Amino acid sequence: MNREMPVRNPRTGLNDYVIHPLTESGVAELAENLRQAQKSWVSSGPAHRCEVVKAWAHALLADSDSVVNALATDTGRYLVSVVEVQSLASIVDRWCDMAPELLSDCGERPSATDGVDVRNQLIPYGLIGVISPWNFPFLLSMLDSIPALIAGCAVLVKPSEVTPRFIEPLQRSLAATPELAGVFQWLVGDGITGAAMIENVDAIAFTGSVATGRIVGEACARNFIPSFLELGGKDPAIILPSADLNLAARIVLRASVQATGQACQSLERIYVHRDQYETFVDTLVPMAEKVELNYPEMHRGHIGPLIFDKQAEIISDHLEDAVAKGAKIRCGGSIETHGGGKWIRPTVVTDVDHSMKLMTEETFGPVIPIMAYNSVDEAVALANDTKYGLSAAVIGADIEEADAVGRRINAGAVSINDGGLTTEVFDAEHDSFRFSGMGAARMGSSGITRFMRQKALLIRHKEAKGIESLDEGLIGA
Ligand code: NAD
Repeated sequence: MNREMPVRNPRTGLNDYVIHPLTESGVAELAENLRQAQKSWVSSGPAHRCEVVKAWAHALLADSDSVVNALATDTGRYLVSVVEVQSLASIVDRWCDMAPELLSDCGERPSATDGVDVRNQLIPYGLIGVISPWNFPFLLSMLDSIPALIAGCAVLVKPSEVTPRFIEPLQRSLAATPELAGVFQWLVGDGITGAAMIENVDAIAFTGSVATGRIVGEACARNFIPSFLELGGKDPAIILPSADLNLAARIVLRASVQATGQACQSLERIYVHRDQYETFVDTLVPMAEKVELNYPEMHRGHIGPLIFDKQAEIISDHLEDAVAKGAKIRCGGSIETHGGGKWIRPTVVTDVDHSMKLMTEETFGPVIPIMAYNSVDEAVALANDTKYGLSAAVIGADIEEADAVGRRINAGAVSINDGGLTTEVFDAEHDSFRFSGMGAARMGSSGITRFMRQKALLIRHKEAKGIESLDEGLIGA
Protein backbone atom coordinates (compact mmCIF):
# COMPACT_ATOMS: atom_id res chain seq x y z
CA MET A 1 0.00 0.00 0.00
CA ASN A 2 1.20 3.53 -0.72
CA ARG A 3 2.43 5.49 2.29
CA GLU A 4 0.71 8.71 3.34
CA MET A 5 2.89 11.77 4.00
CA PRO A 6 1.56 15.11 5.29
CA VAL A 7 3.05 18.27 3.76
CA ARG A 8 3.58 21.48 5.71
CA ASN A 9 2.57 24.87 4.35
CA PRO A 10 5.52 27.29 4.84
CA ARG A 11 3.28 30.35 5.38
CA THR A 12 0.90 28.80 7.93
CA GLY A 13 2.90 25.96 9.43
CA LEU A 14 -0.14 23.71 8.91
CA ASN A 15 -0.02 20.30 7.28
CA ASP A 16 -2.62 21.04 4.62
CA TYR A 17 -1.61 18.67 1.83
CA VAL A 18 -0.96 14.95 1.62
CA ILE A 19 1.12 12.86 -0.77
CA HIS A 20 1.02 9.11 -1.35
CA PRO A 21 4.42 8.01 -2.66
CA LEU A 22 4.48 4.91 -4.85
CA THR A 23 5.78 1.66 -3.43
CA GLU A 24 9.12 0.32 -4.68
CA SER A 25 7.33 -2.02 -7.09
CA GLY A 26 5.18 0.91 -8.27
CA VAL A 27 8.35 2.88 -9.07
CA ALA A 28 9.80 -0.14 -10.92
CA GLU A 29 6.61 -0.54 -12.98
CA LEU A 30 6.52 3.15 -13.91
CA ALA A 31 10.20 3.03 -14.89
CA GLU A 32 9.56 0.02 -17.13
CA ASN A 33 6.69 1.82 -18.89
CA LEU A 34 8.94 4.83 -19.49
CA ARG A 35 11.66 2.57 -20.91
CA GLN A 36 9.21 1.04 -23.36
CA ALA A 37 7.99 4.45 -24.53
CA GLN A 38 11.57 5.72 -24.88
CA LYS A 39 12.20 3.36 -27.79
CA SER A 40 9.96 5.27 -30.19
CA TRP A 41 10.89 8.63 -28.57
CA VAL A 42 14.57 8.15 -29.38
CA SER A 43 13.90 7.00 -32.92
CA SER A 44 11.60 9.98 -33.61
CA GLY A 45 14.66 12.26 -33.95
CA PRO A 46 15.67 15.52 -32.26
CA ALA A 47 13.58 17.79 -34.50
CA HIS A 48 10.39 15.93 -33.62
CA ARG A 49 11.30 15.78 -29.93
CA CYS A 50 11.88 19.53 -29.88
CA GLU A 51 8.54 20.12 -31.57
CA VAL A 52 6.71 18.03 -28.95
CA VAL A 53 8.55 19.54 -25.96
CA LYS A 54 8.05 23.08 -27.29
CA ALA A 55 4.33 22.54 -27.91
CA TRP A 56 3.84 21.27 -24.33
CA ALA A 57 5.96 24.08 -22.81
CA HIS A 58 4.06 26.76 -24.72
CA ALA A 59 0.72 25.26 -23.67
CA LEU A 60 1.83 25.15 -20.04
CA LEU A 61 3.07 28.74 -20.14
CA ALA A 62 -0.10 29.98 -21.81
CA ASP A 63 -2.08 28.63 -18.85
CA SER A 64 0.48 28.56 -16.04
CA ASP A 65 -1.63 29.83 -13.11
CA SER A 66 -2.29 26.43 -11.58
CA VAL A 67 1.40 25.46 -11.59
CA VAL A 68 2.55 28.92 -10.41
CA ASN A 69 -0.02 29.05 -7.61
CA ALA A 70 0.80 25.54 -6.40
CA LEU A 71 4.52 26.40 -6.47
CA ALA A 72 3.81 29.62 -4.57
CA THR A 73 2.00 27.58 -1.89
CA ASP A 74 4.91 25.12 -1.81
CA THR A 75 7.51 27.86 -1.33
CA GLY A 76 5.54 30.75 0.23
CA ARG A 77 6.71 33.28 -2.40
CA TYR A 78 5.20 34.50 -5.64
CA LEU A 79 7.73 36.40 -7.78
CA VAL A 80 10.30 33.60 -7.71
CA SER A 81 7.56 31.08 -8.54
CA VAL A 82 6.61 33.08 -11.64
CA VAL A 83 10.26 33.41 -12.68
CA GLU A 84 10.87 29.68 -12.14
CA VAL A 85 7.95 28.69 -14.36
CA GLN A 86 8.64 31.31 -17.04
CA SER A 87 12.23 30.11 -17.30
CA LEU A 88 10.91 26.96 -19.00
CA ALA A 89 10.58 28.82 -22.32
CA SER A 90 14.24 29.85 -22.48
CA ILE A 91 15.46 26.43 -21.29
CA VAL A 92 13.48 24.65 -24.03
CA ASP A 93 14.38 27.17 -26.74
CA ARG A 94 18.08 27.09 -25.92
CA TRP A 95 18.40 23.31 -26.04
CA CYS A 96 16.30 23.08 -29.19
CA ASP A 97 18.57 25.66 -30.85
CA MET A 98 21.68 23.72 -29.83
CA ALA A 99 20.35 20.20 -30.48
CA PRO A 100 21.05 20.00 -34.25
CA GLU A 101 24.75 20.61 -33.68
CA LEU A 102 25.22 18.72 -30.42
CA LEU A 103 23.15 15.64 -31.28
CA SER A 104 24.47 15.00 -34.78
CA ASP A 105 27.30 12.60 -35.47
CA CYS A 106 30.39 14.08 -37.03
CA GLY A 107 30.63 11.84 -40.10
CA GLU A 108 33.67 9.75 -40.95
CA ARG A 109 37.19 10.86 -40.10
CA PRO A 110 40.57 9.20 -40.40
CA SER A 111 41.97 7.79 -37.18
CA ALA A 112 45.65 7.95 -36.24
CA THR A 113 45.86 4.25 -37.16
CA ASP A 114 46.79 3.78 -40.79
CA GLY A 115 43.90 2.58 -42.96
CA VAL A 116 41.23 2.90 -40.25
CA ASP A 117 38.49 5.51 -40.23
CA VAL A 118 36.14 6.36 -37.38
CA ARG A 119 32.43 7.12 -37.31
CA ASN A 120 30.60 7.92 -34.09
CA GLN A 121 27.16 7.27 -32.72
CA LEU A 122 25.58 9.06 -29.76
CA ILE A 123 23.34 6.79 -27.72
CA PRO A 124 21.14 8.42 -25.11
CA TYR A 125 20.65 6.63 -21.82
CA GLY A 126 17.24 4.97 -21.75
CA LEU A 127 15.92 6.45 -18.53
CA ILE A 128 17.30 9.38 -16.53
CA GLY A 129 16.28 9.93 -12.91
CA VAL A 130 16.15 13.58 -11.81
CA ILE A 131 16.09 14.25 -8.06
CA SER A 132 15.63 17.87 -6.99
CA PRO A 133 15.57 19.94 -3.75
CA TRP A 134 12.94 22.21 -2.22
CA ASN A 135 14.51 25.62 -2.84
CA PHE A 136 13.70 25.99 -6.58
CA PRO A 137 11.53 22.92 -7.13
CA PHE A 138 10.37 23.61 -10.70
CA LEU A 139 13.50 25.21 -12.17
CA LEU A 140 15.99 22.69 -10.77
CA SER A 141 13.86 19.81 -12.07
CA MET A 142 13.53 21.31 -15.56
CA LEU A 143 17.19 22.28 -15.92
CA ASP A 144 18.10 18.59 -16.07
CA SER A 145 14.89 17.09 -17.50
CA ILE A 146 14.57 19.17 -20.67
CA PRO A 147 18.03 18.45 -22.15
CA ALA A 148 17.65 14.75 -21.25
CA LEU A 149 14.32 14.58 -23.09
CA ILE A 150 15.71 16.36 -26.13
CA ALA A 151 18.72 14.02 -26.11
CA GLY A 152 16.22 11.16 -26.51
CA CYS A 153 16.02 9.81 -22.95
CA ALA A 154 12.89 9.12 -20.94
CA VAL A 155 12.88 11.06 -17.67
CA LEU A 156 11.51 10.27 -14.22
CA VAL A 157 11.60 13.25 -11.84
CA LYS A 158 11.30 13.24 -8.06
CA PRO A 159 11.14 16.71 -6.54
CA SER A 160 11.47 17.21 -2.80
CA GLU A 161 8.77 15.88 -0.49
CA VAL A 162 8.84 19.36 1.13
CA THR A 163 7.42 21.06 -2.01
CA PRO A 164 5.29 18.57 -3.97
CA ARG A 165 2.08 20.54 -4.68
CA PHE A 166 3.09 21.78 -8.13
CA ILE A 167 3.49 18.21 -9.41
CA GLU A 168 -0.27 17.62 -9.67
CA PRO A 169 -1.03 20.51 -12.11
CA LEU A 170 2.20 19.79 -13.97
CA GLN A 171 1.21 16.16 -14.55
CA ARG A 172 -2.23 17.38 -15.72
CA SER A 173 -0.57 19.59 -18.33
CA LEU A 174 1.56 16.66 -19.48
CA ALA A 175 -1.49 14.42 -19.81
CA ALA A 176 -2.67 16.73 -22.62
CA THR A 177 0.46 15.72 -24.61
CA PRO A 178 0.34 11.90 -24.35
CA GLU A 179 3.48 11.32 -26.43
CA LEU A 180 5.52 13.40 -23.97
CA ALA A 181 3.71 12.02 -20.92
CA GLY A 182 4.81 8.55 -22.06
CA VAL A 183 8.47 9.50 -21.53
CA PHE A 184 8.23 12.22 -18.85
CA GLN A 185 6.76 11.38 -15.46
CA TRP A 186 6.95 12.99 -12.02
CA LEU A 187 6.93 11.18 -8.69
CA VAL A 188 5.97 12.48 -5.27
CA GLY A 189 8.02 11.07 -2.43
CA ASP A 190 11.01 11.33 -0.12
CA GLY A 191 14.38 9.62 0.11
CA ILE A 192 12.79 6.16 0.05
CA THR A 193 11.24 6.95 -3.32
CA GLY A 194 14.49 8.52 -4.52
CA ALA A 195 16.43 5.40 -3.49
CA ALA A 196 13.93 3.22 -5.38
CA MET A 197 14.39 5.38 -8.47
CA ILE A 198 18.15 4.83 -8.39
CA GLU A 199 17.53 1.07 -8.68
CA ASN A 200 15.51 1.55 -11.89
CA VAL A 201 17.24 4.23 -13.98
CA ASP A 202 20.38 4.44 -16.13
CA ALA A 203 21.79 7.71 -14.74
CA ILE A 204 20.91 10.20 -12.01
CA ALA A 205 20.97 13.99 -12.15
CA PHE A 206 20.80 15.03 -8.50
CA THR A 207 20.59 18.47 -6.91
CA GLY A 208 20.64 18.68 -3.14
CA SER A 209 22.82 18.57 -0.05
CA VAL A 210 26.31 17.13 0.21
CA ALA A 211 25.11 14.52 2.74
CA THR A 212 22.40 13.15 0.45
CA GLY A 213 24.61 13.60 -2.62
CA ARG A 214 27.12 11.23 -1.06
CA ILE A 215 24.41 8.59 -0.42
CA VAL A 216 23.10 9.00 -3.98
CA GLY A 217 26.59 8.89 -5.52
CA GLU A 218 27.42 5.71 -3.59
CA ALA A 219 24.16 4.00 -4.59
CA CYS A 220 24.75 4.93 -8.25
CA ALA A 221 28.32 3.63 -8.09
CA ARG A 222 27.04 0.28 -6.73
CA ASN A 223 24.75 0.05 -9.77
CA PHE A 224 27.48 1.21 -12.18
CA ILE A 225 25.38 4.13 -13.35
CA PRO A 226 26.68 7.71 -13.56
CA SER A 227 25.56 10.34 -11.08
CA PHE A 228 25.74 14.05 -11.86
CA LEU A 229 25.76 15.78 -8.48
CA GLU A 230 25.02 19.49 -7.93
CA LEU A 231 25.43 20.10 -4.21
CA GLY A 232 25.77 22.78 -1.57
CA GLY A 233 28.02 25.78 -1.29
CA LYS A 234 29.44 28.41 1.05
CA ASP A 235 30.12 31.09 -1.55
CA PRO A 236 32.63 33.82 -0.63
CA ALA A 237 32.64 37.39 -1.93
CA ILE A 238 35.87 39.39 -1.92
CA ILE A 239 35.39 43.14 -1.97
CA LEU A 240 38.62 44.65 -3.30
CA PRO A 241 39.94 47.94 -1.87
CA SER A 242 39.16 49.64 -5.22
CA ALA A 243 35.44 48.75 -5.05
CA ASP A 244 32.64 51.28 -4.86
CA LEU A 245 31.36 50.31 -1.40
CA ASN A 246 27.81 51.40 -2.09
CA LEU A 247 27.61 49.22 -5.21
CA ALA A 248 29.32 46.37 -3.35
CA ALA A 249 26.76 46.58 -0.53
CA ARG A 250 23.88 46.52 -3.04
CA ILE A 251 25.32 43.43 -4.74
CA VAL A 252 26.06 41.63 -1.48
CA LEU A 253 22.62 42.32 -0.05
CA ARG A 254 20.71 41.06 -3.07
CA ALA A 255 22.92 38.04 -3.68
CA SER A 256 22.86 37.00 -0.02
CA VAL A 257 19.17 37.38 0.78
CA GLN A 258 17.41 36.56 -2.50
CA ALA A 259 15.05 33.62 -2.04
CA THR A 260 15.58 34.20 1.73
CA GLY A 261 19.14 32.94 1.28
CA GLN A 262 17.78 29.51 0.37
CA ALA A 263 19.96 29.23 -2.72
CA CYS A 264 23.10 27.18 -3.29
CA GLN A 265 24.88 30.20 -4.86
CA SER A 266 23.96 32.64 -2.07
CA LEU A 267 26.88 34.76 -0.89
CA GLU A 268 27.49 33.38 2.60
CA ARG A 269 30.90 34.88 3.47
CA ILE A 270 31.94 38.46 2.77
CA TYR A 271 35.58 39.58 2.97
CA VAL A 272 36.30 43.32 3.12
CA HIS A 273 39.62 45.15 3.56
CA ARG A 274 40.18 46.13 7.19
CA ASP A 275 40.44 49.85 6.30
CA GLN A 276 36.95 49.78 4.75
CA TYR A 277 35.32 47.32 7.12
CA GLU A 278 33.28 49.67 9.31
CA THR A 279 32.29 51.91 6.35
CA PHE A 280 31.07 48.86 4.44
CA VAL A 281 29.10 47.55 7.44
CA ASP A 282 27.60 51.00 8.04
CA THR A 283 26.55 51.15 4.37
CA LEU A 284 25.09 47.63 4.30
CA VAL A 285 23.13 47.56 7.57
CA PRO A 286 20.63 50.34 6.72
CA MET A 287 20.04 48.75 3.32
CA ALA A 288 19.44 45.35 4.96
CA GLU A 289 17.05 46.89 7.47
CA LYS A 290 14.84 48.13 4.62
CA VAL A 291 14.24 44.61 3.26
CA GLU A 292 10.67 43.54 3.99
CA LEU A 293 9.12 40.14 4.58
CA ASN A 294 6.36 39.19 2.15
CA TYR A 295 3.98 38.98 5.11
CA PRO A 296 1.04 39.24 5.69
CA GLU A 297 0.55 39.68 1.93
CA MET A 298 2.46 37.37 -0.37
CA HIS A 299 2.38 40.02 -3.11
CA ARG A 300 4.51 42.58 -1.30
CA GLY A 301 7.92 42.73 0.36
CA HIS A 302 11.15 41.08 -0.78
CA ILE A 303 11.69 37.76 0.98
CA GLY A 304 9.45 34.83 1.84
CA PRO A 305 9.31 32.41 4.76
CA LEU A 306 11.73 29.57 5.39
CA ILE A 307 10.37 26.82 3.16
CA PHE A 308 11.65 23.93 5.27
CA ASP A 309 10.99 24.51 8.97
CA LYS A 310 14.07 22.53 10.08
CA GLN A 311 16.22 25.12 8.28
CA ALA A 312 15.29 27.55 11.09
CA GLU A 313 17.13 25.31 13.58
CA ILE A 314 20.27 25.23 11.41
CA ILE A 315 20.30 29.03 11.00
CA SER A 316 19.75 29.59 14.76
CA ASP A 317 22.46 27.08 15.60
CA HIS A 318 24.98 28.85 13.32
CA LEU A 319 24.11 32.27 14.78
CA GLU A 320 24.28 31.05 18.40
CA ASP A 321 27.62 29.36 17.77
CA ALA A 322 28.99 32.55 16.19
CA VAL A 323 27.76 34.84 19.01
CA ALA A 324 29.18 32.47 21.64
CA LYS A 325 32.57 32.82 19.92
CA GLY A 326 32.47 36.64 19.82
CA ALA A 327 30.44 37.59 16.71
CA LYS A 328 28.11 40.61 16.80
CA ILE A 329 24.71 40.71 15.15
CA ARG A 330 24.18 44.16 13.57
CA CYS A 331 20.61 43.61 12.34
CA GLY A 332 18.06 40.81 12.09
CA GLY A 333 19.26 37.72 13.89
CA SER A 334 16.22 35.89 15.16
CA ILE A 335 13.66 33.50 13.76
CA GLU A 336 10.25 35.18 13.78
CA THR A 337 6.94 33.35 13.72
CA HIS A 338 4.15 35.03 11.77
CA GLY A 339 0.87 33.33 10.94
CA GLY A 340 2.44 29.95 11.77
CA GLY A 341 5.30 30.34 9.26
CA LYS A 342 8.97 30.85 10.18
CA TRP A 343 10.84 33.91 8.89
CA ILE A 344 14.13 35.66 9.36
CA ARG A 345 15.08 39.18 8.29
CA PRO A 346 18.42 39.91 6.61
CA THR A 347 21.01 39.38 9.30
CA VAL A 348 24.36 41.16 9.16
CA VAL A 349 27.01 39.63 11.44
CA THR A 350 30.45 41.10 12.14
CA ASP A 351 33.52 40.03 14.10
CA VAL A 352 33.36 36.56 12.62
CA ASP A 353 36.18 34.11 11.95
CA HIS A 354 36.68 30.61 10.57
CA SER A 355 36.25 28.90 13.94
CA MET A 356 32.50 29.53 13.52
CA LYS A 357 29.98 27.31 11.71
CA LEU A 358 28.64 30.53 10.16
CA MET A 359 31.86 30.78 8.13
CA THR A 360 32.39 27.12 7.32
CA GLU A 361 29.03 25.32 6.95
CA GLU A 362 26.14 26.06 4.60
CA THR A 363 23.67 28.29 6.51
CA PHE A 364 21.01 28.58 3.75
CA GLY A 365 19.39 31.69 5.20
CA PRO A 366 19.57 35.48 4.60
CA VAL A 367 22.64 35.81 6.83
CA ILE A 368 25.59 37.99 5.82
CA PRO A 369 28.74 37.40 7.91
CA ILE A 370 31.47 39.96 7.18
CA MET A 371 35.16 39.41 7.95
CA ALA A 372 38.07 41.83 7.60
CA TYR A 373 41.21 40.99 5.63
CA ASN A 374 44.61 42.72 5.67
CA SER A 375 45.84 41.87 2.17
CA VAL A 376 44.33 40.49 -1.02
CA ASP A 377 46.48 37.37 -0.58
CA GLU A 378 44.85 36.82 2.80
CA ALA A 379 41.39 37.36 1.31
CA VAL A 380 42.06 34.71 -1.35
CA ALA A 381 43.36 32.29 1.28
CA LEU A 382 40.24 32.84 3.40
CA ALA A 383 37.94 32.39 0.38
CA ASN A 384 39.68 29.09 -0.39
CA ASP A 385 39.56 27.88 3.22
CA THR A 386 36.45 25.74 2.66
CA LYS A 387 35.36 22.24 1.74
CA TYR A 388 32.98 23.70 -0.87
CA GLY A 389 33.75 25.10 -4.33
CA LEU A 390 30.47 26.00 -5.97
CA SER A 391 30.92 29.64 -6.92
CA ALA A 392 32.21 32.98 -5.65
CA ALA A 393 32.20 36.72 -6.33
CA VAL A 394 34.86 39.41 -6.65
CA ILE A 395 33.92 43.10 -6.63
CA GLY A 396 36.36 45.85 -7.63
CA ALA A 397 36.71 48.92 -9.83
CA ASP A 398 39.26 47.33 -12.17
CA ILE A 399 37.91 44.32 -14.04
CA GLU A 400 41.38 42.94 -14.83
CA GLU A 401 42.35 43.10 -11.16
CA ALA A 402 39.07 41.40 -10.16
CA ASP A 403 39.58 38.78 -12.88
CA ALA A 404 43.10 38.05 -11.59
CA VAL A 405 41.75 37.53 -8.06
CA GLY A 406 38.84 35.44 -9.41
CA ARG A 407 41.30 33.11 -11.14
CA ARG A 408 42.88 32.30 -7.77
CA ILE A 409 39.59 31.23 -6.17
CA ASN A 410 39.03 27.50 -5.96
CA ALA A 411 35.43 27.39 -7.23
CA GLY A 412 33.62 26.46 -10.43
CA ALA A 413 32.27 29.92 -11.32
CA VAL A 414 33.20 33.43 -10.22
CA SER A 415 30.90 36.41 -10.72
CA ILE A 416 32.85 39.60 -11.32
CA ASN A 417 31.12 42.78 -10.11
CA ASP A 418 27.95 40.85 -9.34
CA GLY A 419 26.91 37.88 -7.21
CA GLY A 420 25.24 34.60 -8.17
CA LEU A 421 25.43 35.18 -11.94
CA THR A 422 25.20 31.41 -12.44
CA THR A 423 21.45 31.75 -11.91
CA GLU A 424 21.21 33.95 -15.01
CA VAL A 425 23.94 32.60 -17.30
CA PHE A 426 23.17 29.05 -18.40
CA ASP A 427 25.54 28.78 -21.35
CA ALA A 428 28.87 29.04 -19.52
CA GLU A 429 30.24 25.57 -18.96
CA HIS A 430 31.61 25.14 -15.46
CA ASP A 431 32.12 22.40 -12.90
CA SER A 432 31.35 22.32 -9.22
CA PHE A 433 34.62 21.97 -7.30
CA ARG A 434 35.34 19.89 -4.21
CA PHE A 435 32.25 18.91 -2.14
CA SER A 436 29.95 21.10 -4.25
CA GLY A 437 29.49 18.51 -6.92
CA MET A 438 30.72 15.75 -9.17
CA GLY A 439 30.24 14.59 -12.73
CA ALA A 440 29.77 16.42 -16.01
CA ALA A 441 28.36 19.93 -15.66
CA ARG A 442 24.73 20.93 -16.07
CA MET A 443 25.65 24.23 -17.74
CA GLY A 444 27.06 24.66 -21.24
CA SER A 445 26.96 21.93 -23.89
CA SER A 446 27.80 19.13 -21.44
CA GLY A 447 24.34 19.78 -19.98
CA ILE A 448 22.98 17.66 -22.85
CA THR A 449 25.97 15.58 -23.99
CA ARG A 450 26.27 14.02 -20.51
CA PHE A 451 22.99 12.20 -21.16
CA MET A 452 24.46 10.34 -24.13
CA ARG A 453 27.10 7.66 -24.42
CA GLN A 454 29.60 7.85 -27.24
CA LYS A 455 30.01 4.83 -29.42
CA ALA A 456 32.70 4.42 -32.09
CA LEU A 457 32.42 2.49 -35.36
CA LEU A 458 35.97 1.64 -36.44
CA ILE A 459 36.24 0.95 -40.17
CA ARG A 460 39.22 -0.87 -41.72
CA HIS A 461 39.54 0.33 -45.32
CA LYS A 462 42.70 -1.60 -46.25
CA GLU A 463 42.73 -5.38 -46.08
CA ALA A 464 42.60 -6.53 -42.45
CA LYS A 465 45.62 -8.35 -41.01
CA GLY A 466 45.63 -12.15 -40.73
CA ILE A 467 47.37 -14.69 -38.47
CA GLU A 468 50.72 -14.01 -40.19
CA SER A 469 50.85 -10.68 -38.35
CA LEU A 470 51.19 -12.61 -35.07
CA ASP A 471 54.20 -14.65 -36.15
CA GLU A 472 56.85 -14.44 -33.36
CA GLY A 473 59.51 -14.73 -36.03
CA LEU A 474 58.65 -11.29 -37.45
CA ILE A 475 60.90 -9.62 -34.89
CA GLY A 476 64.43 -10.51 -33.89
CA ALA A 477 64.84 -13.45 -36.29
P1 NAD B 1 18.40 17.14 0.30
O1 NAD B 1 19.72 16.58 -0.04
O2 NAD B 1 17.87 16.99 1.66
O3 NAD B 1 17.27 16.54 -0.68
C1 NAD B 1 17.38 16.62 -2.08
C2 NAD B 1 16.53 15.54 -2.71
O4 NAD B 1 17.07 14.26 -2.41
C3 NAD B 1 15.08 15.50 -2.23
O5 NAD B 1 14.24 15.31 -3.34
C4 NAD B 1 15.05 14.30 -1.31
O6 NAD B 1 13.79 13.67 -1.21
C5 NAD B 1 16.03 13.38 -2.02
N1 NAD B 1 16.61 12.31 -1.21
C6 NAD B 1 16.80 12.29 0.13
N2 NAD B 1 17.39 11.11 0.49
C7 NAD B 1 17.59 10.40 -0.65
C8 NAD B 1 18.14 9.11 -0.93
N3 NAD B 1 18.64 8.33 0.03
N4 NAD B 1 18.18 8.69 -2.22
C9 NAD B 1 17.70 9.48 -3.20
N5 NAD B 1 17.14 10.69 -3.00
C10 NAD B 1 17.09 11.16 -1.74
O7 NAD B 1 18.47 18.68 -0.13
P2 NAD B 1 17.41 19.82 0.16
O8 NAD B 1 17.44 20.12 1.62
O9 NAD B 1 16.12 19.49 -0.49
O10 NAD B 1 18.03 21.05 -0.67
C11 NAD B 1 18.95 21.96 -0.16
C12 NAD B 1 20.35 21.60 -0.63
O11 NAD B 1 20.41 21.59 -2.06
C13 NAD B 1 21.37 22.64 -0.20
O12 NAD B 1 22.53 22.00 0.27
C14 NAD B 1 21.67 23.41 -1.48
O13 NAD B 1 22.92 24.03 -1.51
C15 NAD B 1 21.55 22.32 -2.49
N6 NAD B 1 21.34 22.88 -3.82
C16 NAD B 1 22.34 22.81 -4.76
C17 NAD B 1 22.19 23.40 -6.01
C18 NAD B 1 23.26 23.34 -7.07
O14 NAD B 1 22.96 23.58 -8.25
N7 NAD B 1 24.49 23.03 -6.72
C19 NAD B 1 20.99 24.07 -6.30
C20 NAD B 1 20.01 24.13 -5.33
C21 NAD B 1 20.19 23.53 -4.09
